[in-house]
Amino acid sequence: MIDNDQSSLNNEIDSIAIDDEGTFRDQLSTVDKSGKRIWVYPKKPKGRFYNYRKYISYILLLILFVTPWIKVSGRPFLLFNVIEGEFILFGVYFAPQDFHLLVIGMLILMLFIALFTVVFGRVFCGWVCPQTIFMEMVYRRIEYWIEGDANAQIRLNKSDWTSEKIMKKSAKQILFFTIAVLIGNTFLAYIIGTDQVVQIISEPINQHWSGFIAMVVFSFSFYFVFASLREQVCTTICPYGRLQGVLLDEQSLAVQYDFTRGEPRGKIRKNQPVQDNTGDCIDCNLCVKVCPTGIDIRDGIQLECVNCTACMDACDEVMEKVERPKGLIRIASLASITNKKFNIINKRSIAYTIVLLILIVLESFLFIGRSELEVILLRTPGMLYQEHEEGVISNLYNYQIINKSDKEFIVDFKIDNGGDAIIEFVGQPPHTLSQKTTEGALFIKIPKDQLSGRKSDLELKAYNRDVEMASFSTTFFGPKN
Ligand code: SF4
Ligand code: SF4
Repeated sequence: MIDNDQSSLNNEIDSIAIDDEGTFRDQLSTVDKSGKRIWVYPKKPKGRFYNYRKYISYILLLILFVTPWIKVSGRPFLLFNVIEGEFILFGVYFAPQDFHLLVIGMLILMLFIALFTVVFGRVFCGWVCPQTIFMEMVYRRIEYWIEGDANAQIRLNKSDWTSEKIMKKSAKQILFFTIAVLIGNTFLAYIIGTDQVVQIISEPINQHWSGFIAMVVFSFSFYFVFASLREQVCTTICPYGRLQGVLLDEQSLAVQYDFTRGEPRGKIRKNQPVQDNTGDCIDCNLCVKVCPTGIDIRDGIQLECVNCTACMDACDEVMEKVERPKGLIRIASLASITNKKFNIINKRSIAYTIVLLILIVLESFLFIGRSELEVILLRTPGMLYQEHEEGVISNLYNYQIINKSDKEFIVDFKIDNGGDAIIEFVGQPPHTLSQKTTEGALFIKIPKDQLSGRKSDLELKAYNRDVEMASFSTTFFGPKN
């Protein structure tokens, strides 16, 4: 039933939106017939929604640049050190052993974005995604400031290389690259921490070759993305954009052109009476001119639309001028535009919500049960057992202590089921540092007559003074009785 409704609706939209030349969506707006890229010069947006986006972008940029500098007990508040497998989320340290928590956390995030998309469409792209924030709210605004609005930019690009053009182009590229360096270093700070980034910047390069190369690669990558790739990231590279087709349905909210009200579109000409048989769209093309991905929203929801709402602002301004109601382009569901039953809570959103809640409960359960100390005790490879003269059998072990707490302390091990077994550390007892892994070796010695067989299972506990911190097990090998 829904499929039939959807296909009849699609036919309806197709018949409305095919333009005079019959070229409805049969080519990409940013590629010409020979396959060459068409550079998008979006007109500078202005209006209510653009202002909201500006305020939101200021807050998000502040959060992005300040967060790496925030520390909790001397450690970063957020760290994604994929190189050393060290993660700190909101001040909580996660070792590689907590990888399952990170995976579930990522699944929750992805499902949340999917659920959000099912209900609210691609709002994330236009309003929160760092790519759009930097592109539209930083780089594009610098471009408008130095080169002027879209037409001025086109004129400048077509003009000869005068001193003014050289000045403008150089100033723009220098600013673009400076900001790319800033973004690159901030990105690096999320991976290795601000202390390391400051060291790389302030100390001689030959002491930090790998860090310096990472900085250069990140800086040039961001420069390339924002100075050259631009909207291609959203329209052809980003996998999230590709998923829109399966995430959206006719109940999803998205930036939509109200074709029932706007069609048939008809131009208003000076000193000519307004035709009665036309819709509210006056075919001024302003919604297309402001679009940063170069599409015509009147062709319906499209993969390239990042829901930036620039076309809404542009059209509202036009509607105001021609004294027609605003909202010809608005955030709406296709169902609400076609006067069908609009239900924000539908089967799909309920199903996603249930799965999301299950994952959140599972993550919380695992997180609460997570211990601050983890011990891995394994028999040293290649060693079996040693038999001593006094009738004692010993095994050599390697230990790894993962201290996820913000305290440092000396760890003591005790065997629960080892009879008169004793533990002898090789060197000093382990001194674990906060959020670090400590490694070492130890012997476990058990009187031969207390061994029940060739292999015994030992249950051990780790203590900080008298406080039990972790329990773990290992095996002990001895001679056949
Ligand atoms: S801005 Fe509004 S009136 Fe102008 S072409 Fe777009 S939809 Fe039609
Ligand atoms: S169609 Fe409108 S909302 Fe979509 S990207 Fe273009 S301007 Fe933004």
